Amino acid sequence: MAENPKISFFAKNKTVCPVCGTEFYRENLLSGGGRMNAGQLTLEMHRLYEPTQKFGKVYPLLYPVAVCPECFTAAFEKDFLEMENATVTRLQSTRNDRKGSVEKLFPGIDFTQNRGLKEGIASYILAMITYDSFPAEFTPTFKQAMCTLRAAWLCRHQEEEEPGENFDYLARIFYRKASFFYRQVVENEQTGKESVETIGNFGPDIDNNYGFDGVMYLAGLLEFYYGPRENVQVRLQRLKNSMTVVSRIVGMRKSSKSKPSTLVENAIELHGKIKEEIKKLENNP
Ligand SMILES: [Zn+2]
Repeated sequence: MAENPKISFFAKNKTVCPVCGTEFYRENLLSGGGRMNAGQLTLEMHRLYEPTQKFGKVYPLLYPVAVCPECFTAAFEKDFLEMENATVTRLQSTRNDRKGSVEKLFPGIDFTQNRGLKEGIASYILAMITYDSFPAEFTPTFKQAMCTLRAAWLCRHQEEEEPGENFDYLARIFYRKASFFYRQVVENEQTGKESVETIGNFGPDIDNNYGFDGVMYLAGLLEFYYGPRENVQVRLQRLKNSMTVVSRIVGMRKSSKSKPSTLVENAIELHGKIKEEIKKLENNP
């Protein structure tokens, strides 16, 4: 049987890792020729792609993170290439932590080969860890939030491809972590700890930029579905905060024409759900 037609290619120009000096070639998605068959957009603003007969399944999210195959430093391309000396020094001393955490999940993982779902998941886990070493100007918390959410999405896809390997469990862990990070991003923006002004693309997926509204919506959505419920008072307070945040998107629907309407529609629905749960919790504390 003939090999599947290519869905990606390795860049001609090499990338040099600023942390360990290793030279490697980045893998990029080939997007033309009917490879990308866009399907539904999920409530989490994740774009699904329908498999095609010619190319099979394509996951564009596997490629955006640059990963050094030697020291496992991982970041979005611009950050990878422009990190400061202090960040480099920190990353040089934490090399074993990065390696250890992904090798536990994916023994023998190799970033010189074509990426599949496992490499994609690992790339986002590594970016999550790497961004710990970046200063606030690089908006590391936002990037950790987006990477964690994408890791959760890819774990769900991996579960669909190979059910029963515990990737659903892993997805839940990432969703909860993403809920923590997105809440943090909104708080940091309010307190000025980490300004979001320099962020060009808020994603969360690669086909659309939903801006900071998208971040507020996701903070509310993830809190509602994956936030901690053990303490009812904490749950109630967080849901109230989420409702305030989501209200900002709902309230702006008339004043702005540029807002993508799917987000507003979803925000209205979420607002209703949160309101309902608050009512339930207040009536049966
Ligand atoms: Zn390296």
